[in-house]
Amino acid sequence: MRIEEDIKLGFKDVLIRPKRSTLKSRSEVNLIRYFSFKYSPLKWSGIPIIASNMDTIGTFQMATSLSRFNILTAIHKYYSIKEWEIFINSSPDNILEHVIISIGTSNLDFEKIKKIFLLSSKIKYLCIDVANGYSEFFLSFLKKVRDCFSDKIICAGNVVTGEMVEELILSGADIVKVGIGPGSVCTTRLKTGVGYPQLSAIIECADAAHGLNGQIISDGGCAVSGDIAKAFGGGSDFVMLGGMLSGHSECSGKVIEEKENKFMLFYGMSSIPAMQRYTGKIFGYRASEGKVVKVPFRGEIDKTIRDILGGLRSACTYVGAQKLKELTKRTTFIRVSEQENCVFNHFNASNILD
Ligand code: 5GP
Repeated sequence: MRIEEDIKLGFKDVLIRPKRSTLKSRSEVNLIRYFSFKYSPLKWSGIPIIASNMDTIGTFQMATSLSRFNILTAIHKYYSIKEWEIFINSSPDNILEHVIISIGTSNLDFEKIKKIFLLSSKIKYLCIDVANGYSEFFLSFLKKVRDCFSDKIICAGNVVTGEMVEELILSGADIVKVGIGPGSVCTTRLKTGVGYPQLSAIIECADAAHGLNGQIISDGGCAVSGDIAKAFGGGSDFVMLGGMLSGHSECSGKVIEEKENKFMLFYGMSSIPAMQRYTGKIFGYRASEGKVVKVPFRGEIDKTIRDILGGLRSACTYVGAQKLKELTKRTTFIRVSEQENCVFNHFNASNILD
């Protein structure tokens, strides 16, 4: 047994130190980034935020709405080929260029991506997604996918340590997805005792990935737009969001009405309802590692996205980053023991002028 003594940090442990800036307004900030990749010859430009491939979040409707903001959606893996066909035939290239196909590591998944890529050559990204990216089998599956789809942008995860990021990149990943246990509806840390504070995971994994010309996605743990700024500030190239995008018309969660109020169900992909829904049973050897929660229904996603992007632009202004790409270079984190002042609760002021 070993203990690592140096402190590992989460988003709530830091703030970003303001820096002298020549920017006059947040409208001068450019959030678009231009990417080229270690293996794939494709290029991609856009705002490097990704809607998570959870079944309630990574929907075709979400991809359609978020493509208008140049934001990516990782489509969940439960759509049938028929549903993909209908989506692809009815979507212009701009939408398809903002889509990531998610798969697990089964042979069926492998055959399915072949069929989806045959339906459209416009889709650039695929993401091999497993809860625990530390297995030998995962590495060999990744190699097989890289051999078969040599020109696609391949993301793989999840891991949280530099040595495994290197291993995944050397096995064919362009981008490594980082995060074990930080998610809003994840109970892995409680169930298993395993995890890694997300900001430290980002800092260490980004360093490892960038050293090999790879990139990382920070996946999970962002609760407010300031956390997204911290993830980018820590070196993340992309940031994946689940909970922050839940409760919208584009989501597929069940709507619950209670008196005047509308809610939507949101649940972890390893929660009991998700396991029941997709495997039809609860395996005796598996514990649930996800929660079910009820979130307020917030209507269409546009307002939430504008709020997130506004927060991110403002963060860039505070440190003098004219482009999102400069945010990491201009970030100094300070360790803190307080975040916001909680003396008052938020008042929902949306109807204040009625
Ligand atoms: P959030 O943005 O909600 O904090 O985190 C979203 C991420 O949580 C997802 O992209 C996924 O990686 C992770 N996640 C989703 N469902 C579960 C679950 O049931 N268990 C665990 N351990 N992680 C989950």
